[in-house]
Amino acid sequence: MTVVELEDAVKRYQSGRETIEALKGVDFRAERGEMVTVIGPSGSGKSTMLNLVGLLDTPTEGTVRVDGRDVTDFTEDELTEERRSGIGFVFQAFHLLPMLTATENVELPSMWDTTRDRRERAVDLLQRVGLGDRLDHTPNQLSGGQQQRVAIARALINEPKVLLADEPTGNLDQDTGRTILDELTRLKEEERIAIVAVTHDEQLLDYADRVVRLVDGVIQE
Ligand code: ADP
Ligand code: ADP
Repeated sequence: MTVVELEDAVKRYQSGRETIEALKGVDFRAERGEMVTVIGPSGSGKSTMLNLVGLLDTPTEGTVRVDGRDVTDFTEDELTEERRSGIGFVFQAFHLLPMLTATENVELPSMWDTTRDRRERAVDLLQRVGLGDRLDHTPNQLSGGQQQRVAIARALINEPKVLLADEPTGNLDQDTGRTILDELTRLKEEERIAIVAVTHDEQLLDYADRVVRLVDGVIQE
């Protein structure tokens, strides 16, 4: 089942008098239970594509669908609602809050939802990424790999359909990177989510169910 889809997506940026076409008509989809890895050189349009898939930005032309519904013309508020309920992010820019414990960091994106007990799910997710004995640690008491696992647990708190990861192994050594990828693969199966991971790291290709190569705003395969 396709959870998120771009059809013939074009993205242009205006930079002074110059127009940059970052995506030149891209078709992309991600299905439940699969990890799609997007690889390509710097400037090839990976972040732009991830922003469209994550409903953080809208295409200049083309169509965006979530669960088969066309969301291209959704308002900002409607897109925010779609994002909250459907999409988890592990972006390097979205840091953990230093004053909060691991559990509180994981709970944070669910605070607006008062209908469910989110602490239980937060603790469960942390246990499943091997941090059951680190629940009350703050980020600076955790290693880089552990912090990344907290970020992954946080991205899953609202039971998203799709998890978007920008360089999930970015700041980690190779062994820690592999541990994270093993955990992502397991969580993908358990939660039946789609994962879209953007990277330069060839190591991620071993874990991908499908690889999408972007070159200069065009998908090569
Ligand atoms: P990647 O993530 O593969 O490095 P990006 O999607 O960040 O590629 O960038 C693709 C192209 O679009 C690049 O030429 C970049 O300079 C340009 N670009 C990205 N974001 C903007 C922006 N906000 N304004 C102008 N140009 C941008
Ligand atoms: P890794 O090799 O996974 O990155 P580290 O060698 O950085 O792990 O850390 C090993 C252990 O030490 C971890 O379990 C972590 O909880 C603990 N630790 C790391 N940094 C700190 C810190 N600043 N304060 C307290 N404990 C820490």
